[in-house]
Amino acid sequence: MQVHKYDVIVVGAGGSGLMSALYAKKNALGNVAVISKLYPTRSHTGAAQGGVGAALGNVDEDHWEWHMFDTIKGGDYLTDQDAAEIFAKDVIEAVLELEHMGLPFSRLPNGKIAQRRFGGHTREFGKAPVHRACYAADRTGHMILQTLYQQSIKEGVTFYNEYVVLDLILEDEPDGKVCKGVVAYELATGEMHTFHAKSVVLASGGNGRIFKVTSNAHALTGDLTSIAYRRGIPLEDMEFYQFHPTGLYKLGVLLTEGVRGEGGILRNSSGERFMERYAPTIKDLAPRDIVSRSMYFEIREGRGCGPNKDYIHLDVTHIDPKILEERLPDIMDFSRTYLRVEPTKEPVPIQPTAHYTMGGIPTTLDGEVIYGTTNGEKVRGLFAAGEVACVSLHGANRLGTNSLGDLIVFGRRAGVAAAKFANANELEPLPTDADQRALDLVARTRNATGKESVAKIRSEMQQTMQDNASVFRTEETLSTQVEILRGLNERYKNIGISDRGEKYNTELLEAIELGFLLDNAEALVHSALNRRESRGAHAREDHTDRDDTKFLKHTMCYQLEPGKTNIKWKDVVLGKYEPKPRTY
Ligand SMILES: Cc1cc2nc3c(=O)[nH]c(=O)nc-3n(C[C@H](O)[C@H](O)[C@H](O)COP(=O)(O)OP(=O)(O)OC[C@H]3O[C@@H](n4cnc5c(N)ncnc54)[C@H](O)[C@@H]3O)c2cc1C
Repeated sequence: MQVHKYDVIVVGAGGSGLMSALYAKKNALGNVAVISKLYPTRSHTGAAQGGVGAALGNVDEDHWEWHMFDTIKGGDYLTDQDAAEIFAKDVIEAVLELEHMGLPFSRLPNGKIAQRRFGGHTREFGKAPVHRACYAADRTGHMILQTLYQQSIKEGVTFYNEYVVLDLILEDEPDGKVCKGVVAYELATGEMHTFHAKSVVLASGGNGRIFKVTSNAHALTGDLTSIAYRRGIPLEDMEFYQFHPTGLYKLGVLLTEGVRGEGGILRNSSGERFMERYAPTIKDLAPRDIVSRSMYFEIREGRGCGPNKDYIHLDVTHIDPKILEERLPDIMDFSRTYLRVEPTKEPVPIQPTAHYTMGGIPTTLDGEVIYGTTNGEKVRGLFAAGEVACVSLHGANRLGTNSLGDLIVFGRRAGVAAAKFANANELEPLPTDADQRALDLVARTRNATGKESVAKIRSEMQQTMQDNASVFRTEETLSTQVEILRGLNERYKNIGISDRGEKYNTELLEAIELGFLLDNAEALVHSALNRRESRGAHAREDHTDRDDTKFLKHTMCYQLEPGKTNIKWKDVVLGKYEPKPRTY
């Protein structure tokens, strides 16, 4: 066994991990390392297209209060208002900081950062869409990732690439839980490494691979949400899963909301701009939960497009082709390459695609992971930021461009807090069997000789999650899905794999990732079953109204054993914006 010692370990090299690592290194007295399953610049942040929202007001008047309000209303009032306030204020300066680091933003003729419109972002508390999304063409995430990776190297952060974290070194002590590091499997050699650390930041991204049609990369399998959950940490608000309205038909590949920000229009089979009926003020730029549901209503009413009437058209034929090529070059490419559709001449077939998890590992405003139902019960030495975490900024539905903002604002806060914690504490002694669980997991999986196929279980999980727990849900579909997942978990115990090799054993990795996915799916479905109301992205057809009396609170889902959970609640931090009916 190899043991490495660090002051701060960051798991994940996406935008949140790199921002945490950079700020941990700037503030820590000792060394900082990032462990990443992927080579850093392959992280999903690099796929982010449309932009990062900040009230710079470069195109039209804007204020951080308007951004804060939009975020809370967009989150259907489940957003913690203290988080939204910090976010809307700090993201302005964080974007300017990225600019100063050298990020090549698109520019206005006067040289200022260009901004475009995005769903749910408005001026004067909902009056009209505002230009708030700062962008670098449709490659904003790519530029953020490259910029932060360069800065982290320059600052002296150490990288362990293609190392897969399989366990947290977490102990129950008389005064609470404490994290002493992580255990990671090196893909190239098959060796196990123990990373002994004073503080650990989890920044491992989302879990979109639980669904069949998704915009998420193959690596987004919810590894650390599952590991934390298995180790007694609750998962917060997992029922809130966002479906982005414009995925390429059948493939799920994302076409950014920036397309609608630049004037793109959604049309049904008769060419009608149907969003005028559902959101008369901001139309196609309504938040994603509302647009995705409206699209399904159209399809259900028989107004879908194509021979099977099962998709919607995204129309940009009225926009100047020069603007499209300049501001949305990748989007044009995706439609041509994947669907052989020429967007300047014909509408693009699209359908909602599984995109973003609002839920995750619960944290305080400084990224400290909590294991109880109040911010007082913290896991000492453990932090989380980015899509894996839930602070909760996005509440029941995230607004577009607020994730990239979340990464840089709360990634930075987690990095600073992790460094401060490390500076104030000594390395705690490791338990003697620190890597035993991870070794057992790998040995058990590598030698699995059962009859069940990993690929089959995974595709059944993805198909049934899509059928029973996606945009619309009922008691019946969710209860059915609870049973299906129990069955899949049973079958998972009996998988077989054929590659027993040590080096780059991706079959082994996929089998382990399937176990993580099943936990993520379970937390989502159990939480959704328990929430008998409709709020944000969680639409229950048997409980169609929002119920603030019973459910204006965060779900905290604990795993007792696979298939069995215990659900508790945590208070929402309210503030000056009182819950109101959500219309646009
Ligand atoms: C196609 C697409 C377009 C998007 N566009 C936008 C946009 O325009 N604006 C916006 O605000 N949001 C957008 N989003 C959402 C946003 O990009 C993501 O939520 C965000 O980038 C997530 O960043 P992250 O740092 O949390 O994780 P990621 O960038 O996903 O990085 C996760 C990291 O964790 C590592 N990791 C995972 N598991 C392990 C493990 N077991 N061991 C070690 N390392 C591990 C991976 O290697 C990776 O480095 C988009 C998302 C997608 C999918």
